[in-house]
Amino acid sequence: MAKYNKPLDRTYFEKKKNPKYNDDDKVTKCCGQSKYQDGMKKGNKEDWKLIEDKIEQILHDYPNTISVTPIFCDECGRFKEYKSAIDLEKKW
Ligand SMILES: [Zn+2]
Repeated sequence: MAKYNKPLDRTYFEKKKNPKYNDDDKVTKCCGQSKYQDGMKKGNKEDWKLIEDKIEQILHDYPNTISVTPIFCDECGRFKEYKSAIDLEKKW
């Protein structure tokens, strides 16, 4: 009966599709991002365009943002986050 009392999570369905699926292997060791998702990568022109557009939008929407730095993982080049430099003096 026990096997019917298990929650069905993503791992369950991944294993159904691929019996060799290893749950410990699903995220990169370097930055903890999913290997099974196509994230944005450093050096990809299309991704860079998306990043540029996003940063332009941030600068437009938030007048107290001085600059935005896209942070990539040093190991695998996956995009991690945007780091904004905020001008705390500036009033809206
Ligand atoms: Zn990484």
